[in-house]
Amino acid sequence: MTELKILISREQIATRVTAMAADITRDFAGEQVIFVGVLKGAAIFLSDLARQVKLEATFDFIGVSSYGNRPSPAQELKSGWDSTGEVRLTKDADQSMQGKNVILVEDILDTGLTLTYLKKLILARQPKTFRIAALLDKPSRRKQPIQADYVGFSIPDEFVVGYGLDYAERYRNLPDICVVPRE
Ligand code: 5GP
Repeated sequence: MTELKILISREQIATRVTAMAADITRDFAGEQVIFVGVLKGAAIFLSDLARQVKLEATFDFIGVSSYGNRPSPAQELKSGWDSTGEVRLTKDADQSMQGKNVILVEDILDTGLTLTYLKKLILARQPKTFRIAALLDKPSRRKQPIQADYVGFSIPDEFVVGYGLDYAERYRNLPDICVVPRE
């Protein structure tokens, strides 16, 4: 693989995550929240975000995978991903969400299929409030009309890794967000 180029530095991430945490602290002042992270990509973002939110909070994690037609990372890099959009749950949350303030924490909002599926699933559990915090957003790729309430960075249609995001399970531990060049 060719060299990875930094798109968003660790310093830029830290500054933006601090601001997002301040927004959440303000919006839920006096309340308790549950952060529900989408595995595995959101784990690092959730841990940085939640540690700066000055509220009483609990964590939970949810796992999803896409049915069938998500291509290999190499194909995805070459031609993008055109899914017909079936998502399935591989790990459910452990806590009840009924009557709670649920903040779903996701690494990247791309086509919107994953978050549309998870929003429906969580709303059916009747939380008191439901919000989405996404570190990255690729609005040009959207297939479903869904938006995050808290967005870190809007980025162009590039395949990115680092800060939790992988390419075939690699690079999750890079501290910066980097672009994998399309050959
Ligand atoms: P969506 O359902 O919105 O199309 O996709 C969301 C998921 O696709 C993300 O949670 C992530 O796993 C994956 N994804 C989308 N774009 C990228 C990207 O640029 N890099 C990586 N590593 N994963 C991505």
